[in-house]
Amino acid sequence: MRLSRFFAPTLKENPTEAQVVSHRLMLRAGMIRQHTAGIYNWLPLGTRVLQNVARIIREEQDAAGAQEIIMPTIQSADLWRESGRYDDYGAEMLRIKDRHERDMLYGPTHEEVVTDIFRNNVKSYRDLPTNLYQINWKFRDEVRPRFGLMRGREFLMKDAYSFDIDYASARHSYNQMFVAYLRTFARMGLRAIPMVAESGPIGGDLSHEFIVLADTGESAVYCHKAYLDKPIPENVDYGADLTSIVQDWTSLYSATDEKHDAGKAAELGADLISARGIEVGQTFYLGKKYSTPLGAKVVGADGNSVDVEMGCYGIGVSRCVAAIIEASHDENGIVWPDSVAPFHVGIINLKVGDTACDEACEKLHRALGLQGYDALYDDRDERAGVKFADMDLIGIPWQIVVGPKGIAKGIVELKRRATGLKEEITPEGALAKLGATI
Ligand code: ATP
Ligand code: MG
Repeated sequence: MRLSRFFAPTLKENPTEAQVVSHRLMLRAGMIRQHTAGIYNWLPLGTRVLQNVARIIREEQDAAGAQEIIMPTIQSADLWRESGRYDDYGAEMLRIKDRHERDMLYGPTHEEVVTDIFRNNVKSYRDLPTNLYQINWKFRDEVRPRFGLMRGREFLMKDAYSFDIDYASARHSYNQMFVAYLRTFARMGLRAIPMVAESGPIGGDLSHEFIVLADTGESAVYCHKAYLDKPIPENVDYGADLTSIVQDWTSLYSATDEKHDAGKAAELGADLISARGIEVGQTFYLGKKYSTPLGAKVVGADGNSVDVEMGCYGIGVSRCVAAIIEASHDENGIVWPDSVAPFHVGIINLKVGDTACDEACEKLHRALGLQGYDALYDDRDERAGVKFADMDLIGIPWQIVVGPKGIAKGIVELKRRATGLKEEITPEGALAKLGATI
């Protein structure tokens, strides 16, 4: 992609409306633009990152055995009357009437809809367990939308829903999602710590919030410092019993404000971290909270009909993009982890119009494309300073700088955004090095 044609309206000045660094940098890098309070347009750069985050989530959900579906964003109010939540949900629910005066709503969450799919289509215990997920837009009419994507009104969520015949099986489904979450957040460069949480209006009696520690976080949280570098489970066999992994990850103290036990926390002494945190995901064991009122039952092995056991599991996909920036930036801009970066490599041509520079850049751009890498080629007729600043702001993990003096000797500069380390290398050497690292 040529930067001269790429739609990334960057800003030199800090936008005054942005209070947190992620919001500021997303506006400055031209990733998003506000449409109206709490509702955003995703421009090409933002869309690329959002899709990379969604891809990681999807891969880990699929690996854990969940199956992707897409449910409607506009829902019928009738289902919510059946579950009893139509009146309970309050002003966060955007209520709409269609032309026939029927009550509709823009979904803030999908327990009712997915339970309806289940009850109409699954009748036997033989079809269990089942876990269905979607990556889709939600609307919650938040009182105070703020901090950009962190607390939007419209936001992208991954929501999964598990259905099981009994408690033991439901716990296994919960554990599968719990472990998948540890892996998912780690792959996008986030250290998310599972914390005992209140289940709120979603319901149920077992819940964990996955929290990224950050000064700009909205929740006060407490945890043992060993969580900061606990190794993430690898090569997980999701069919096997995952109890020991979950126990290992829940045996140390960690709690959100609502569940905090000051006495117990004090026993940790210097090992206690008391910090602010961003909730990037939450898991809930629901039991029969939705299956009983909505009549989602199956015939068990003994021929008796039972209400199914459910769980639900959310990840704030768009909030993750903001959380990644909160966790990974410096004074010059965003520092994308390789796994979610909008481009793998940026090519900076320091002298557009110089035959040797142009040719070297074109060749690199083509070669990277052939190797399957996304490269952003800064072919604009701008000063070097502007180009360096923009590339650092956008935060692409690798930069290849091509200048007339170097190229006369067959040399370019390869820079790692995260460390600032630069090395002089041949274009072929740079390609080989990227091939080995990306
Ligand atoms: P919060 O406590 O932050 O309001 P929640 O607990 O109401 O969130 P859940 O119902 O658990 O949210 O939704 C699953 C995930 O969706 C959350 O963990 C969060 O990452 C994300 N999310 C929730 N509300 C918003 C929002 N207004 N803007 C962006 N992401 C959100
Ligand atoms: Mg939550």
